[in-house]
Amino acid sequence: LFNKDLGQHILKNPLVAQGIVDKANLIGSDTVLEVGPGTGNLTVRILAQAKKVVAVEMDPRLAAELQKRVHGTDDQRRLHIMIGDFMKVQLPYFDVCISNTPYQISSPLVFKLLEHRPLFRCAILMFQREFALRLVAKPGDELYCRLSVNVQLYAKVDHIMKVGKNNFRPPPQVESSVVRLEPKNPPPPVDPKEFDGLLRILFTRKHKILSANFKQTGVLQMLEQNYRTYCSSNDLMMEDNFDIKSTILSILDSVGMADVRAAKCDMDDFLKKSS
Ligand code: SAM
Repeated sequence: LFNKDLGQHILKNPLVAQGIVDKANLIGSDTVLEVGPGTGNLTVRILAQAKKVVAVEMDPRLAAELQKRVHGTDDQRRLHIMIGDFMKVQLPYFDVCISNTPYQISSPLVFKLLEHRPLFRCAILMFQREFALRLVAKPGDELYCRLSVNVQLYAKVDHIMKVGKNNFRPPPQVESSVVRLEPKNPPPPVDPKEFDGLLRILFTRKHKILSANFKQTGVLQMLEQNYRTYCSSNDLMMEDNFDIKSTILSILDSVGMADVRAAKCDMDDFLKKSS
C-alpha cells in the first residue's frame, strides 16, 4: 500500500502527532509549510492552530487522499497542496515548518530551509535518530561532524522528542527523533561554500591535529590551486618563494590552532579559522 522508496511511514500515534504540532507554538496568523503530509495526520492538527498550511507532497495518490480528508470542511480553503518534489519546488512564504520528513532527503531539506528567505521562525522536524543526534552534537561527542557544525552555524538546534518505530505504519527500520531548528537572525556573515570547504578538510580525520590534515598532499595541491586562481582573478602577484605548506601552518599557528583536533573545536574556533 505504501511506497517504501518515498519513505512513506505514516505517523499513527495521535499523541505523538499532537505533541509535534504543539511544540511549534503556533499562533493564529501563521502560515505553515509541511513537507510530505502523507494522509494528513499532522496537517489537520496544524490547520486547527494556524491560518494556512502549504503542504508539498510528491505522491499524487496521497495528495488526493489528503484533499478528500479536508473536503467540505472549513480547512479546505486554508490548505494548499503542492504536488511535487520538495527539493525542486520554489518555496512560498512561511512562518514555521513542520515535517515528518522523508528521511532520504534529510540533509538537503535542512539546507534548503536554512537558505530560504525571509527566514522562518522555527522548524519542527522528524528525522531518523542518528541524523538528529548528528544535528545536535557538540564538540567532543562521538557524532560531532561536518553536518553538526554547518547546521549550528546557521541555527540553534535542540533535540525535543524521541519517537519509537512502532508509532509508524509500516514501522521503519530505525528509531526517530524530533528536533527544533531556530535560524540565527541575522545569519553569520560567512560564505557557506567556503566554510563547508574548510570543514571538509578539518573533518577528513577529525581526531588528528589540524595541522596534520593540512599536510596531506591532495589538500595542499587543492589549496595552492585555489590560491593561484584567487590571485589571478584579483590581479594579485604571487610571491616568488610562495610555499603553501608553510603559509598554512603559520596561519594555523597564529590563531593557536595547529595542534587542536576538529572533534573538539567549537563554533568560535571554526569561525576564527575561516576569517
Ligand atoms: N506526514 C505524514 C505522517 O506524519 O503521517 C507522512 C510522513 S512519511 C514519513 C513521508 C511523506 O513524504 C510521504 O507522504 C511521502 O510520499 C512524502 N515524500 C517523500 N519524498 C518526498 C519529496 N521529495 N518531496 C515531497 N514529499 C515527499
